[in-house]
Amino acid sequence: MTTTSLTIQPRVWICCLACYNSGYLVGDWYDADAGDLVTPEDLHGGPTDHEELWVTDHEDFHGALEGECSPGHAAEIAEALQGLTHDELGAFSVWVAEWGDDVNNAHWVDRFRDEYRGFHKSEGHYAQEWAEDTSQDEDKERMTRWPWNSIDWDRAAEELFSGDLHAERVSDGIYVFCPR
Ligand SMILES: [Zn+2]
Repeated sequence: MTTTSLTIQPRVWICCLACYNSGYLVGDWYDADAGDLVTPEDLHGGPTDHEELWVTDHEDFHGALEGECSPGHAAEIAEALQGLTHDELGAFSVWVAEWGDDVNNAHWVDRFRDEYRGFHKSEGHYAQEWAEDTSQDEDKERMTRWPWNSIDWDRAAEELFSGDLHAERVSDGIYVFCPR
């Protein structure tokens, strides 16, 4: 598998705001991280007294950008997303919709990784894995004699998820987060 195709590259449609407000669409698609370098002259193909540019459409932001904004804001968000791997994107989209507003976007990726506890089939599966991962070796040995399979992990999970943990359900399982 090559890694070059895994780069996240959000795109923005940047248009001239004065033209847009007069009912004309003068714009084009750009890579979002360089969108703040686009000038009104670029869009008009020559000199213009129009000054302000505006992002009216975008793609590949994975839930991190809603609606319209300035090219500078879109560039900031695009840069914040660049540290993410493709494996993280699904969980990140869920996380950013729920908690992104409370966190400066420069810290999004670090904070997301700090709070993300993985993808699991259910709360019960998470509880079982958690118990196995946090047990000491001597406990593990005891577990092999103990009726581990008779534990009702879904009930055990209710306790875990009534505290700091949050489960966000998607079609085939749950993303688990531990928000600060
Ligand atoms: Zn214009």
